[in-house]
Amino acid sequence: MEKKNIDWSSLGFGYVKTDLRYVSNYKDGAWDDGCLTEDATVTISECACVLQYAQTCFEGLKAYTTEDGHIVCFRPDLNAQRMANSARRLKMPAFPEDRFVQAVVETVRANAQWVPPFGSGATMYVRPYMFGSDAIIGVKPATEYQFRVFVTPVGPYFKGGVKPLTVRISDLDRAAPKGTGHVKAGLNYAMSLYNIVDAHEQGYDENVYVDSATRTHIEETGGANIIFVSGNTLVTPKSDTILPSITRRSLLQVAKDYLGMEVEERPVALSEIGEFTECGLCGTAAVISPVGTIVDHGKEIHYAGMGPTIQKLYDTLTGIQMGRLPAPEGWITVIA
Ligand SMILES: *Cc1c(COP(=O)(O)O)cnc(C)c1O
Repeated sequence: MEKKNIDWSSLGFGYVKTDLRYVSNYKDGAWDDGCLTEDATVTISECACVLQYAQTCFEGLKAYTTEDGHIVCFRPDLNAQRMANSARRLKMPAFPEDRFVQAVVETVRANAQWVPPFGSGATMYVRPYMFGSDAIIGVKPATEYQFRVFVTPVGPYFKGGVKPLTVRISDLDRAAPKGTGHVKAGLNYAMSLYNIVDAHEQGYDENVYVDSATRTHIEETGGANIIFVSGNTLVTPKSDTILPSITRRSLLQVAKDYLGMEVEERPVALSEIGEFTECGLCGTAAVISPVGTIVDHGKEIHYAGMGPTIQKLYDTLTGIQMGRLPAPEGWITVIA
């Protein structure tokens, strides 16, 4: 198969229109058969529920070319499950989980020429999402929905080497107790935009949110979970308002089963973060971004950046994703 003529290593993290995307519509209580389309635009009512009341949720995962030339994706069943949970919380009809995986596979396969080659450092980002599409003016859920999957090639996350992040403890919140922090809703991102722009203006890479009820415990950043290292132990915050990152859940298993580490998922107090030696942000986009400094209202806490443990976790998980290391049962879906 001929790949597209793209300078893969100079791609950034941006939208590139590819050939085909998947669309399925929900109407009269049922999802239609769905299909691939060349049409990269969406036409909906000016009063669509998504436009008025933000009834939308999304997912993000990646497809990779392995060393032996296959195209694979990583744990799409967990994205399917998480999107079904998000849909239920937003009163949307869940897209069937088996069909979700099938739609991801079909969309990636149809755009195989756009999947960056092995060794380029680039990957293919896959974005499933759905939204309420019919006209709703009184506050209630839509009755019609659209589910779509598009793909876009994205460049190496750490272009020109890894630079440890400087992040701040945020004074604004992303999630309320019993709110929607645990689901991947667009609304969680809309209200974080003010704060991320402000963080960048103040010279920080990210906001670290604390629990909004007591402001004493670490939660996560706007789009990534947090891990800490202490000796041979990997520690990650536990809270009902954290988005359950698939990268983080996978790293915990890698730490335990591949690296022989202890793992702790528990509340992490702001007052104890100075005791950890390494800190990282984890999510699909970068796998792990090492944190060099957390700034808590003028007080700086320093970490090793890409320290030995975070490096090992990163190498092992990306090794599994790229087919260099044997994967646990069910982690890799072969697409082509
Ligand atoms: C998507 C997301 C993550 C990362 O989840 P992955 O499944 O690892 O990509 C973390 N936090 C938030 C708030 C997210 O929306």
